[in-house]
Order: sequence, then C-alpha cells, then structure tokens
Amino acid sequence: MSDSWRDDAGLTRRTLLKTTGVVAGAAGLGGCLSGRSPADAATGAAFKGETAFGNCWICYHNCGQQVRVRDDTVVDVTGVDGHPRGSAGAGRNGTVCPKGQTQVDKTHDPERIKRPYVREDGELRAATWDEAFEYAAQRLQAFDEEHGAETFLDATSWAETPITTQLWRNLYGTPERISRGVHVCAGPTFVAGGMMGVGSNSRVPDYQNAEYLIMWGRNVFESFAGQFEAKGVLEALENNGATLVTIDPQHTETAQKSDVWLPIEPRTDGALALAMANVIVEEGLYDETFVEERTYGFDAYREAVEDKTPEWAAEITGLDPGDIREVAVGFAEAAPSAGISVWTGTAQVGNGWKAAQNIIALNGLVGNVDRPGGLRMWQGTPLADPFEVRGVDLPNNAAGKTPALQRYDEYADYPVRHLVGIAHNLVPEMVENGHINGIYCHHDMPLKDGNAEAWLAAIEEMDLVIAVDVYWNGVSRNADVVLPEATQLEKDTLGTGSWSAYNDRQWVTGSKAAVDPQFDTKPDFDIVVGIAEAMGWGEYFPWDSHEEFIDDQLSVHDLTLAEVSGGDRNYELLGEYGYEQWTDDEGWVFRFDLDEVPAFAQAAEEAGMDTAPEWVPPGTYGDETDEEYPLEFYDTRAVFFSHGSTQARPRSREAYARRHDLADRDYRGNYLVINPRDAAERGIETGDMVAVESATGRGELMAYVSERTRPGFVTTEYGFGEGSTQPDEEGLNSMRLHDTQMDPITGQPDRHLAVDVSPTGGE
Ligand code: SF4
Repeated sequence: MSDSWRDDAGLTRRTLLKTTGVVAGAAGLGGCLSGRSPADAATGAAFKGETAFGNCWICYHNCGQQVRVRDDTVVDVTGVDGHPRGSAGAGRNGTVCPKGQTQVDKTHDPERIKRPYVREDGELRAATWDEAFEYAAQRLQAFDEEHGAETFLDATSWAETPITTQLWRNLYGTPERISRGVHVCAGPTFVAGGMMGVGSNSRVPDYQNAEYLIMWGRNVFESFAGQFEAKGVLEALENNGATLVTIDPQHTETAQKSDVWLPIEPRTDGALALAMANVIVEEGLYDETFVEERTYGFDAYREAVEDKTPEWAAEITGLDPGDIREVAVGFAEAAPSAGISVWTGTAQVGNGWKAAQNIIALNGLVGNVDRPGGLRMWQGTPLADPFEVRGVDLPNNAAGKTPALQRYDEYADYPVRHLVGIAHNLVPEMVENGHINGIYCHHDMPLKDGNAEAWLAAIEEMDLVIAVDVYWNGVSRNADVVLPEATQLEKDTLGTGSWSAYNDRQWVTGSKAAVDPQFDTKPDFDIVVGIAEAMGWGEYFPWDSHEEFIDDQLSVHDLTLAEVSGGDRNYELLGEYGYEQWTDDEGWVFRFDLDEVPAFAQAAEEAGMDTAPEWVPPGTYGDETDEEYPLEFYDTRAVFFSHGSTQARPRSREAYARRHDLADRDYRGNYLVINPRDAAERGIETGDMVAVESATGRGELMAYVSERTRPGFVTTEYGFGEGSTQPDEEGLNSMRLHDTQMDPITGQPDRHLAVDVSPTGGE
C-alpha cells in the first residue's frame, strides 16, 4: 500500500453508498435532537460506560454536550440541561442539533487525516510529529528569509485563536490575518453595528422578552446559532403571544411558522428597511425622546426616508405596500419589545453594507436599544491573559508592519482597505502580486467562501502551505505540511459567550477530553506549541497542558476547568448585567449617520456611497441579472451541515438526500433548488443533472424543483463539490461561479450571482 494521503481518504464510491445505507436506516435527523446513538436507540439497553462533557464547536457555538463513552469510543452525545447555548435557560432541557450530533461520527471517522504529512519531491509522505514540526520550522525560516514573514497569512478560523495569533503575529511577525467573522460571514452586519454604537452582537435580539420578532433573512429553526435562538423564539411565541415575521425570498422552516412571511425580492432589504422607517416617521411612531437625546444624524436619516414610501418599496421589493405598512406599524407599536434578528442573509451581498445600516437604523428609530425584548447589547465574558498570568514577555514582531492591502498602490481602487487589513476575495490577487506567499490554514477552507477557482490557483502558487485540519480538502491535499487535528471530543476546551439563553448573564463553559486523540492526531493547542518549540520559541509557552492554559484564563473568576466541568453540568453563570447599559456612558449615541467615523467616511466616498442610510440597488456593486444570465443564485445552509466541515459525513448527506426525496438516487452532492416556473421553461425536473453557469464559472449538480424558492431565484447548499471535504467531491462548489464580487466597505464576498441553468441530459 502506498503512503500517500489517498490512503486516509479511504472509501470508494461503492463502500460510501453501502455505509450511508446502513446508517440511514439507523438514525434520522431533523430539528433539535436530544441525541441517542443508533446502537442505544436500537437496543434500548441501559448505558454501561463513562460519561463526560463536550463543548460542541461543529458550528462553534459551544452547546454543552453530555458525552457517553464505552470502551474508549464515543457512542452518544446529548444536551446539557440549562446550558446557555443548548437550552432555553435554567430548568430547561438541553439538546444538540443534527450538526452537533455528527461529532459522534466525526471522532472515530476512518476518513479523517490520521497522521502528519510533509511534501517531499512533490508528493505528500507520512511523517512523525517531530519530523513534521521540524520540517515546518525549516520551511518557515526559509520562507522568512526569502519572502519576509509579513507575506505569510494566518488563516485560522475557529480554534485556539489566542495562542495561534500569538504564534503568527507576535513571534513570526505577520500582520496578515483572515478569519470568519468580518471576512466571510456577516461583515456588513458586524461592522455596521459596531460603528452605529450597538456593537457587532446586535444581530441577536432579546428573544424571550420580545413581543414582535422579525427574522430578517434568517432561518433560525434550521440554522441555529447555538440552538437557544430557536427555543427563544418559541418561548416568545408561547409566553408573550409574540408576532413572528420572516423576510426571506425562500419559504423556509421559519417562514412556515411565521405569522407574516414577506417573500422579498433578493438584495432589496435596504429598500424595505427605508420604507418601514418612512411609515414609522410619517405616523409619528418613533421614540422621540430616544432619538432626540441619544442619537446622532437623525436629520440625514429623516431626509433619506422622506420619499421612501411603501409604494416606492413595493416596486423594488415585489412586496405588497399594505404588508410593508403593517409590519412597520406592528414593529413600532411593539417597541421597545421588538427585536430584529439579522445575520448572513442580508450581509453576503454587494449592497449588504447599506442593507445592514438601514436595518440597524430601525432600532435607533424605535428606541428598542438594550431594552427588554429588543436589540440587546450583549456582554462577553472577560478572561485573564495567560501570558500575563505567567509573566511571559511576548515580543510583538508584527509591530510597525502594515498589511499589504494598505501598503501597496495596487489596491488603491479597493475602499475596503481603509477598514479591514485583508479581504478574502483579494488574496489571490495579492498572491499574484507577491504580497502573500504562504498560508497557515487552520480549520478553514477558503475555497468554499469566495472565488474558488482563483483561490485554488493561489494555493498552488504559494510557496508554503501549512494545513491543520480533520479532513482532506482542497487545501490540505495541496499543502506542504499537513497536521491532523483532534476533534472537539478529544481535547480540553473552554467557551465563553455573550448572547445566550441567559440574556443578562456572562458565562463560561468547559470540557475535558472525552477520549484520547484518535489515530495519530493532536489538539490544536499542542500543534501550535509544537511549531513554536521547533522554531525555538518554547520559552513563550510555559504551560505543560492546555488545561493549565485554560486554568490561567479562568483565574480571573477564581475557577478551574476541572471545577467548571466536574459537576453535573459544564457551565458557570458569571457576572450579571442590566438593560440600558448606554445610560452609564453620557457620551454614548446611536449613530444614524457615520460621517464622523473617518475610516468609513473615506471608504464610503471612494465607493460612491453616502455616510447616512440610503437605497443602493442590486448591481451597484456585484452582479445584475440580464438576458444571458437571468436567474439570481445564492447559496444556503441546511440543518445537516456546518459550513464545509461536516459534508464528509455520509449520515448527514443521506439525511439531506432524504429531505429532497432523492435518497434512491446515486448522487450525494448538493441540489439546485429551482422554482417550477423556471424549471418548466428549461425542461428541468427533479433529479435531472443541470449545469449552472455564471459569467466566470460553471458547474453541475442535481436539480430539485420546488415552490420553496421564488421564481427567478435559485439556491444550493454550500460546502460541496471541488475542494470540499467530501471524499468524491460530488456536487457543485458554488463558489466556482464566483469572481471578485464583494461589499466594497468590508470586503465581504457577495454570494448573489447572476446565472443561467440548463439541463445536461443526465440523471
Ligand atoms: S448549534 Fe452548533 S454548537 Fe450547537 S449543537 Fe448545533 S452544531 Fe453544535
């Protein structure tokens, strides 16, 4: 048997189908689960084994897990009652969602990367950990000498980010870091919230106390941010008789359960928000006291909404003006107990900045800011800096190094350079210019988050690629060093959070490893320390274990990891904070107009944008549909998958196929959801293979004809196809259709693309 990476990738198409058939019969997925292992569920046997805790980070929202282990094998995960993220609060059942349930499969998955690899004579060969660390260190030193450390990109997604940043920024000395958050998740929402004064956490309202909830481009019953969101919405409906409104071009799970569904024309959310403001201002329903005493720029806002009537917006949004008026009045009358939930749906689009600004402005208008049931100014939990606790004097070798985007004239046409250090879609161009020459890609997969073709070429072009991951994918297969990471149940973890089921409490959640790292893998903490030691920086990492490091973090609360995870639950509620926190700061104002924020004002001027709320039509930045590409494409999330990290799991793909009634087909990629009208025009039926084509890319996948999506709008689940973690890369990598479309202010990739769809003749 050869020693190449393909030995780890393992399953053939036939064995894959056999495997999925078996697990499909054993377990079903869908909705919130209090997980039961297939084996236990089948036998009903009393559990004989050990229990431990977990801290689910499949989607990184830290839902508490009760983990059952038998013979060193994880057999089951269930929720932790009362957990901040996995329950609706004290005394309520904790659960894990179908994505979280995949942690059981993932831990012992034979398709994982099982050992380190280094590239030798162009081929990946298996290596020991010592060899891999030593090889990485040599390459890093040579890289610094040849290109300069500042051209190395830290692409750590979610992991032990604090020490990862210390390694790359403080010690290696690169200012270039790209993560999820602002870069590929919901940059406009996060950044606009911060600038307007309510913080980037403004996307999650105070659900339990709300009387009116708007899910704006959000499907909380399908894609949980830690499950408590879905439960919080249900609590508001049951306890407060709250009205639920969904604004979405798709008829989602959440739309089905809503009192009002506004099937908005994609990318017109900014117009709807202005029209709602027009109604609220015209009818005198706004919070005059709050606006007068605690806001800035209201005159510019009032001017911006003056002629933006519901009739004006109806033309743009395709909605009924009466419905717009009704939702505006309902929201304003319920305020301040009226919350808007907004995240990626309105952010991953070229005009997403203005959508975010216009939507967030509604909160300032009705004064629901940090009041019960409205927008909440969530408080994160402070932790001690373990480096300070140990008296480690870390250098800052990145000090004084300006990120390339802000340093070189080549990027003068990108307004985004004023606000963020780097933009996802510009990395390939920076590689071409020689300003980025290497990458540390940790639990991230940039090939699914924007211009995939260009990123694939950039990964090949880079001089040094270090991949830290659980599965083979388009980055790890092309890496020079592959470091196999332990999964969450194999390592000690600490989670802290802000928004949760406890709307006025800070909290921590922790867990000790439920089983040892499987195969020859290591926790990310050990990997970072291993690289540091090989580089001669061991003195900066004096901890014997990650647990010691976590204990130092918790020392500010006089807690240890053993205490947090050693009782009958694995979380602690900490500091309490009240509502209307802005009253403590006399200088605080809610900003409608951002003309006093210099970086934004400069970026806006270059982008041809106003600093106040305004209407920016689709196509101003990014694609516009036309005769050649008449359909609007967007990629979506299903409850079975978390970004690109769980597509390797046959059980998840099987459940996804069953939902589409296509489980009998020999296809386990993603589906193109197309409206019956558009399908009929093209002679397409469910189960047909179709080609999707944009101006810059093309790919094939299976069609699913459904009223679920509005005419003119096609969608697919992302994270599949070329470069993905799927062993056979089946389906379409939706970002193969993508080029450099992005929001000019934050660089957030614009995932709305103009395409056409045609049958390929296959099934
Ligand atoms: S919501 Fe996220 S963190 Fe919570 S159980 Fe599901 S995948 Fe895990």
